[in-house]
Amino acid sequence: MLIAGNWKMHKGPGETAAFCAGLLTYVGEQGMEELDRIEVVVAPPFVSLHAAVEELEESGIRVYAQNVHWAEEGAFTGEVSRSMLIASGVAGAIVGHSERRQYFGETDESTAHRGAAALEAGLGVIACVGETLEEREGDETEDVLRRQVGAIAEAIPEPGAALSIAYEPVWAIGTGKTATPEMARDAHALIKSIYPVERVLYGGSVKPENAEELLSQDDVDGALVGGASLEVDPFTAICETAARLTRS
Ligand code: PEP
Repeated sequence: MLIAGNWKMHKGPGETAAFCAGLLTYVGEQGMEELDRIEVVVAPPFVSLHAAVEELEESGIRVYAQNVHWAEEGAFTGEVSRSMLIASGVAGAIVGHSERRQYFGETDESTAHRGAAALEAGLGVIACVGETLEEREGDETEDVLRRQVGAIAEAIPEPGAALSIAYEPVWAIGTGKTATPEMARDAHALIKSIYPVERVLYGGSVKPENAEELLSQDDVDGALVGGASLEVDPFTAICETAARLTRS
């Protein structure tokens, strides 16, 4: 089970260091054994990656970026390369988040391209897919997932353990609306039926109150958490739930 916190455009270096120190206090109290059952990732903004890496060194909690470019270097203003992330101690990257698709023109192809390049460099990848409300109401969820996952499958025909797909229904992100456990289970089963990826995470208003019912569904292998990852208590509560479900 993988629990990843996507901080979006929140927390500069100082707030990042304070959050990570709080996370380490939790780890210290729980003992490493508890945490060893699951994988925990935090994804701060680029400028805070260094602070997170420094603070979480040797903790087992890994730091991901929220995006990565496929080129080694070049005229790509605003982008960050794989080797820059690796040199900063970053373990992976989120690609194709719906906010990148919605506001910054990210496409199925660019998402797949970014993901394939990051994996090739040895980074972990969380590649996001998911339908909008209009698409769900128009009964297009399956077509959308087939198209989005199909683009990833074309670029990454043999997904290894370093790749996770995050199923994030766009209408459930940051809205407080959550997919029903059945919706999540069906979407995850569909993704696994069309692509042999080991891990499919659910994302969309995951919080301590709904974590158990979502994480206990078949084919739900973890969560990508936005809002509830910004404070130590709710984030660690979700991690605890995942660890408990992994034990049982
Ligand atoms: C996300 O940012 O990927 C996300 C799922 O956000 P939230 O948990 O706030 O809906």
